[in-house]
Amino acid sequence: MKWTYKDMSTVKVRAIVLKNMSLKEKDKLVCLYSLELGKIYVSMKGVRGEKAKLKSAKEIFCFGEFILEQTKTNYIVTGVDIIDNFYNLTKDIDKYYEGCAILDIVDKVESQPNPPLFIEIIKALKTLCYDDVKKYYCICKFLIDIFAGMGYNFITSECSSCKSQLLHKYFNLDFGELVCPACRTALCVPISEACYSSLKILNMIDYEKLKNLKLNEPGTIEAYKLLCKNFEWRTNYQVLDIK
Ligand SMILES: [Zn+2]
Repeated sequence: MKWTYKDMSTVKVRAIVLKNMSLKEKDKLVCLYSLELGKIYVSMKGVRGEKAKLKSAKEIFCFGEFILEQTKTNYIVTGVDIIDNFYNLTKDIDKYYEGCAILDIVDKVESQPNPPLFIEIIKALKTLCYDDVKKYYCICKFLIDIFAGMGYNFITSECSSCKSQLLHKYFNLDFGELVCPACRTALCVPISEACYSSLKILNMIDYEKLKNLKLNEPGTIEAYKLLCKNFEWRTNYQVLDIK
């Protein structure tokens, strides 16, 4: 088999567009999260022109197979097979912001290839885009799974410190875990039963079943705020505001 420089420098990745930035003239720098290479920056030539072939492939949420030419300094996109651009997300402002927040979380927490995370991103966006799911459910589930991926399986019925059964629950921001009243510190926030119940259900349920779910609303908003606060404590980044 004869190898040429071109063969060796062409790669095909399955990826989703996290964000894009304008470069000189009509070029764009696009940040992809790919199954094979993790987070990569690629340039797309002439995509700001009206008739550009790759025009829709540069947009946030675009999921497809990207063909890349690797140069000495970066990757250039030479072709894209779009699998789904989740177009409906751009037609509903709440869903759009929730989707943006999910991609922003990925941008902030992961740069390496992570197949389970990649699958989760696609599942979350599909659910958000095509199912009639209430606000906050997708992002809460996504955040719970992000914490689990970091090693925090915090939704338990016993105190993480003394192991007693939790009646009144506090969330320890310092450790990212639930504790009982006796083990609470100054860095603990109380959480309501409704909040705990929302967290527990969102943790257990599959994305496909979120559309059938109806949770206590104040409890779910409390859960969302707690998850955002925890994200800040765990990563030093904020979740994009979706209000
Ligand atoms: Zn305790």
